[in-house]
This record gives sequence, structure tokens and C-alpha cells, in this order.
Amino acid sequence: MLNINPQTAPFTLTPDNQVPEAIRDTEYWDDGGDVLLVTKDGTVVFLCMDMLIRYSETIRGLLNHIAGVPQEGLWTPILELQCSVTELRAVLEYLRLQEQGIQPSVDSLARYALSAYTLGIQALDDTALTGLLACARDRMDTYTNWEGITEIRPPPLNPEHAILASRALPEPASSILAITFIDLSVFAPSKAALYPSSEALALRDPNDEDTIILLRERHSELVDSLLKLSRNFGRRRSLAKVGRPCCSFEAFAVDHTPNLHVNAAMKGRSALSIITAAGAALETARSREASAPKDFKQEDQHLSDYKGHSSSPCSSCLTELHLEMMRLYSLWLEDMGRLLMGEPQTNRFSVWDNIRDRLRNSQTPVLRTKSGLRQRIGRFCRRMLHTVGDLLFRRDVA
Ligand SMILES: [Zn+2]
Repeated sequence: MLNINPQTAPFTLTPDNQVPEAIRDTEYWDDGGDVLLVTKDGTVVFLCMDMLIRYSETIRGLLNHIAGVPQEGLWTPILELQCSVTELRAVLEYLRLQEQGIQPSVDSLARYALSAYTLGIQALDDTALTGLLACARDRMDTYTNWEGITEIRPPPLNPEHAILASRALPEPASSILAITFIDLSVFAPSKAALYPSSEALALRDPNDEDTIILLRERHSELVDSLLKLSRNFGRRRSLAKVGRPCCSFEAFAVDHTPNLHVNAAMKGRSALSIITAAGAALETARSREASAPKDFKQEDQHLSDYKGHSSSPCSSCLTELHLEMMRLYSLWLEDMGRLLMGEPQTNRFSVWDNIRDRLRNSQTPVLRTKSGLRQRIGRFCRRMLHTVGDLLFRRDVA
């Protein structure tokens, strides 16, 4: 039963002391509620405090405080939150799924984690962290074990959400940053889309844009190296005295030169698709040669020699080309790692080894341990100071 004290309400009430329709949340308004939440953008949510007390540290702390104070006049408590209505709805959506025993997708979890940041919901932090770590391990394996034959699929969650969430979540969440930045630089649609305005401001890093630009410059260089390799294949081959000039990949280079107007954001994908195209051509050449009758093979070879091999290069040239492309890819991946994390530790071969270890050794979050708990309390206090420090609690004093 809603009973607002007109003296302390942080918004204008209707003549009969009700919350105006215009500022009521359309999704979360429970007529049987017992606490009003006011978001920083002025939307009012009416809920049962029971669910919030169960899941939110921040709200539990504040509500326990009122619970211990005699409720004179039985005014409905009003909490002003330093989060937007979008953030609050995300958390409430998660809590509802939780009550129904439904597991949200990893992308939703990352999105919810941003909101959990302000509300201190440990159950959500734990689930989101576990989901993000599993996803990062998978992406890491995808990039490091890639054979250059099938396409690398886009990540299953928005990398921007993952980056912001990793900053909101406790350690070892930061281990996912490097691999997520690669996903972001390769798969995010464009620079303009970096962090939609609704996302948690406090978690953005002003250097992120520069990081992405830097990574994309390397993608563009990789595209150039791959094309140059294809164009100069014949010449390189005769220089190296591997044998007489055989196939040419100049036509391949022309076919795969990205349109001049291709957005810088697309260069990473272009590079990967050039390698995939060579990989696919290699597979085709192998199966063609395997299925061709033996005596036709020679003839084929001569015929294609005559044609300059432009249409269907032989599998041994393609193997050479593809191997060299994969060497460039490995250098690129290692370079990405160094740009993002600096030089590897002395006894490490690859800069990614450290990250792989950290991701592997953190199957479950560390929050249960004592030091984890201290860390968490520390983080919670910082949250209180920086993010919800000015979270206002209004209680009836009449
Ligand atoms: Zn050849």
C-alpha cells in the first residue's frame, strides 16, 4: 500500500498524493509493493523490498537500516538510486529470471553486470563472471588454435558489454580484457558504436578509442602483408629456388583487395577472410587432385602451366601460400598481445600464455576465499564511495 510523505518525496505528487503516471515505470510497478525506488533519470519503480533485500547488498544495507527504525506514520520508504532506469530494469529482469530458475544468456549477463555494479548483487556478479570467463577461454582457444580454414565466428556477446562488465566485476575479470579487445577491434561494427550512451559511464576508459584505433592499424597492415604475399608469390618462389615458378596468386590478390572505401573497422574481418579464402582454395585443390585420375594429373598440370595457373592453383603452391599466411597471422596475434599487455615474462614463448593460464586456473570465481571476501568488501566500499556514495535514503521523520 503506497503511502507517500509529501514532505520528503523527491518528485511532485498528484493532488491526491500519488506518483504521477508519467514518471511511473511501465514495467516494474507492483501495486502490492512496499518500497519506492527513484532512478537518477527520474523514473519511479514500486516493488516489494523482500526480493531486493534477498539479492542486493547495497539495498539490504539501506533497508535493514530502516527495518531497525520504528516506522512512524507508516510512510512508504523511498530510495534514490544513482543508476538509470535502464540499469535498474536490467537488474530487476535478472532477479525475476533468477526467481523463475531461468539462466540468462552470457550477453545478458554482461549487460546485467554493469547494473549489478551499482546495486552490489553478488549472485549476479558470480554468475556473470563465470559466464564471461568461460566465454573468454573459448575465444582465446578460437584465436590461438585457428587453422585458417573455417571462418572465425563473431563472439557470442557484445564485446563492449564484456569490457565494461569486466571492469565492474571482481578479479579475475580483468583477464578477459585483452582477448575481448581483439574481438571488439575485429568484430564491432564501427567506431561510433563504441559504448552506447546508456552504458555505465564510470567504467569507460578514455584510452579505449585509441587502443581500438591502434589495433585496427595492425589489422590493416595484416591485410596489406597478405595481399603483398599473394601478389609476389611467384617471384618469391623463384628467388628462394624452391623450384620453377608454378602458380600465380595475382588474381587472388586482386579478388581479395578490400574496396578502397572499406571502413577501418572492417579490416580485421578482411584479413581473416583472405586467409580463410586461401584455406578453402587449398581444401578444394586437395580434393580435386585426390579425385582426379592419375594420368590426368600430369596433363592438368601442363594445361594449367600453360594458362599461368590463374584459375586453379595447385595444392602444393596453395599449401605454401597458406602456411606463409598463417605465419603472418601468428605474428599479428602475438603483436596484438604485446600491444595490449606489453612484453611477455622472460621464460614465456608467447605473451598470451600468461592470460591463458589465468583464464584456465580460474574455473570458479575467487570470491569464497577470505582474501576474496576482503577484496569484495573493499570493492563494495569503493562502490559506496564513488558510485553510490550519494545514494540518498529518505525516511519519514515526521
Ligand atoms: Zn603450383
